[in-house]
Amino acid sequence: MSQSSPIGAPRARPLNDREGWFGSGRELRRKARQEHRCVVCARPLVRVGSVYCSRGCQESFHARYFWDAARARVLRRDGFRCRRCGRRLPRRHLEVDHIVERVRGGALRDPSNLQTLCRRCHAGKTRELLHALGERAHRRSEEYPGLDSGIGEIVFGEPSTATWD
Ligand SMILES: [Zn+2]
Ligand SMILES: [Zn+2]
Repeated sequence: MSQSSPIGAPRARPLNDREGWFGSGRELRRKARQEHRCVVCARPLVRVGSVYCSRGCQESFHARYFWDAARARVLRRDGFRCRRCGRRLPRRHLEVDHIVERVRGGALRDPSNLQTLCRRCHAGKTRELLHALGERAHRRSEEYPGLDSGIGEIVFGEPSTATWD
């Protein structure tokens, strides 16, 4: 029973896996440091003090735990282009969508379940989802705006702080 998330408190939703980062993630980083191998691809490490062989591996590791890293990675992967209508737009007009929605059990930060959509296409997809799920989903969606979308901005370095737009 949650004591601190009243209805309409999407901030309480765990977009970041802080526990994992400081738990099994820390263990992985410790092991990588010990073995001098990249924590992602196991290539030998050259830079002292880092557990990543490259920026790409760093980003991919962060993306496993933090929403903003996953989001940035997906926007770049998709070339800042909406995957529905194909428009290339500035970052602020783009959103990162869960292909299989979270309400349907889709993976939270797995890049293979994430895609770039423009705001309009994202809104359209959300409407389709709500329509498909019916009134019950409507009510839940009002309680948790962004439930189906995972739209969020997170301050990196503050893993528990999520703000929603
Ligand atoms: Zn690597
Ligand atoms: Zn679009």
